[in-house]
Amino acid sequence: MANEKKLIVGNWKMNLDMHEASLYLHQLSKLVKVHRDVEVVLAPSMFTLQSLSLQVNLRQFKLAAQNFYWRDHGSYTGEVSAAQLRGIVQFALVGHSERRHIFNENDKDIRNKVAAAVRSHIRPILCIGETAWERSSGETHYVLHDQLIGGLSNITSDELEQVIIAYEPVWAIGAGQMALPGDVVEAVKAIRRQIEHLYGKAASESIQILYGGSVTADSAAEYLNLPGVNGLLMGGASLNAHEFSDIIKKAHNSLTAAKKG
Ligand code: PEP
Repeated sequence: MANEKKLIVGNWKMNLDMHEASLYLHQLSKLVKVHRDVEVVLAPSMFTLQSLSLQVNLRQFKLAAQNFYWRDHGSYTGEVSAAQLRGIVQFALVGHSERRHIFNENDKDIRNKVAAAVRSHIRPILCIGETAWERSSGETHYVLHDQLIGGLSNITSDELEQVIIAYEPVWAIGAGQMALPGDVVEAVKAIRRQIEHLYGKAASESIQILYGGSVTADSAAEYLNLPGVNGLLMGGASLNAHEFSDIIKKAHNSLTAAKKG
């Protein structure tokens, strides 16, 4: 694959208050070495983002929003836009299964958010994946196809360079249940085929695709070494600084081992 960098993303979800988040970042920054081939992204909750953006060393970690509203400004009480997050975050999660299933986000919301992030120079991490029911009905590849078309339909070839895809089977998220490596490889291949169909071969080879779903320090290396997988998106494992820094080390080691041969 053309991409020789790994991307490691930690989604803190609705955890850590201001004080805890700041302490955590301090602790993590002591544990993690800067590796040019590994980009580390932290997605804290919205209200801690601004203060963490003043504390973070951007050579070491980038920041991501877990959510935002797709319009830029206006009378939308309680919402924060990508335009307002510009300069504070470099990435944003879009279409995470908890947003789709708990907050009923649909394809229209998601495609508008992908476009809004790109418009504000924030790289969207578009999360897609099947539910347990869809998986057992043999619909995984149809779901991935529909969610990709749904999420990307406002995005041009040039803009696609900003987009990252995260394959996250819904049944594996926060469940301690891990996807079989062979199934992840097949899903990632299906995603690249669909990208090739929509945007051409070069785009399908260069787009970064992450895996997410109950990854731990013990399982990280196996997923990181899968062909076509450019990194990991984690919830639970990102809340333990030692475990998360261990996973970052494994990402670096996986690239070093691949280069040696
Ligand atoms: C996630 O929230 O995207 C996720 C993968 O969570 P976990 O690692 O806890 O399964």
